[in-house]
Amino acid sequence: MGLDEDSLDYHAEDPPGKLEISTTKPTNTQRDLSLAYSPGVAAPCEAIAANEDDAYKYTAKGNLVGVVSNGSAVLGLGDIGAAASKPVMEGKGVLFKRFADIDVFDIELDQDDPEKIIEAVDAMGPTFGGINLEDIKAPECFQIEEALKDSMDVPVFHDDQHGTAIISGAALVNAAEISGKNLEDLDIVFSGAGASAIATARFYVSLGAKKENITMCDSSGIITQERADAGDVNEYKQQFARDVPGGDLADAMDGADVFVGLSIGGLVSQEMVQSMASDPIVFAMANPDPEIGYEEAKAARDDTVIMATGRSDYPNQVNNVLGFPFIFRGALDVRATEINEEMKVAAARALAELAQKDVPDAVVKAYGDQPLQFGADYIIPKPLDPRVLFEVAPAVAEAAMDSGCARHEVELDAYEERLEA
Ligand code: NAP
Ligand code: MG
Repeated sequence: MGLDEDSLDYHAEDPPGKLEISTTKPTNTQRDLSLAYSPGVAAPCEAIAANEDDAYKYTAKGNLVGVVSNGSAVLGLGDIGAAASKPVMEGKGVLFKRFADIDVFDIELDQDDPEKIIEAVDAMGPTFGGINLEDIKAPECFQIEEALKDSMDVPVFHDDQHGTAIISGAALVNAAEISGKNLEDLDIVFSGAGASAIATARFYVSLGAKKENITMCDSSGIITQERADAGDVNEYKQQFARDVPGGDLADAMDGADVFVGLSIGGLVSQEMVQSMASDPIVFAMANPDPEIGYEEAKAARDDTVIMATGRSDYPNQVNNVLGFPFIFRGALDVRATEINEEMKVAAARALAELAQKDVPDAVVKAYGDQPLQFGADYIIPKPLDPRVLFEVAPAVAEAAMDSGCARHEVELDAYEERLEA
């Protein structure tokens, strides 16, 4: 309860909220003001009217992300509506600023109709260098993101889908290495077939897992071809339907190498973990309570259980803040037109590689002096590790340039130095 009260006080302290706008140019004299606004401002307006790309030269567009939500799937709170989601969206702005010096306008849309959301966000294109869709429920989130990716010429990224996919993807690459298994051989079971699970399954395939080795379960059990043929599942789940007998999560987990939980807490028992293959990988990421707890999963077997959760009080926290600030940083700095698969894979690989390097003492201290060394209990970097910015943003920028969606080239060594300065 202490945390709730502290949080209300934190937000209520004057000025209310946790963000404000500040100016970046002198505003002290009459002349300053006539440059910032009328009549001087006409000159950059005319320049942009003649060449829209000049918006990146004369306005804050290139460092500005729109965090857009309708409040239909907020954190663990569910469909609380647009107004109630504002503290979360402002919080996202705080994280963008704190971790990557990116400015955010949070946009809460009182709208559930996907077509109307698409229309509204598409019309905001001139304002932003990128759009972070947030906390919009499945399956509408897929339709909204796909349409906006097509129609907008700036990156559109639904963080609840891809953030989780990328960070747990980095964790998967390292977990496979530790357990001595190849990604293409992994038998992977998902609990959950919503926004994050669908995107994560797709992304694991981009990283090298085989789609035919993925079994997905929703609240009615294994998503089989039979259920798909009967029209029992939406088009997104259908893509992962398997031609196997029906069954429940326990059936699916028997013999599996990897469990990926993006559903609800407490669904997995120790017996289910015991039924998995040797040195199993268990990513129980439901929040706030994982599908199975860290200690319970670890204690289920004598071999190594490589465990990740969404919780900060256990090792290997899959936390989206390890991704979106740095991915957008890299994308904005090359004026990418999108955040494509190559850029997402580059981000995951950069995170995975960073976890294999020695951790600076200052970072170890920031996390209460717990040992942070590559191994089962440290497969992804920590968000407060400053190297995440220097490693992930350039990797994303490079992938954008290589894949042809960068409108601005950077020289990578100089770029990395600039980030470190
Ligand atoms: P979502 O779109 O609502 O999807 C939830 C999925 O869980 C649905 O497919 C639902 O099945 C399934 N489910 C519900 N009850 C179930 C049961 N008893 N057995 C099996 N499946 C069940 O939600 P989401 O945004 O993907 O998030 C899912 C969970 O992952 C949440 O707990 C969220 O906090 C967590 N998450 C964690 C992270 C992280 O970084 N740690 C990131 C993203 C999400 P139906 O389709 O049949 O309804
Ligand atoms: Mg979210």
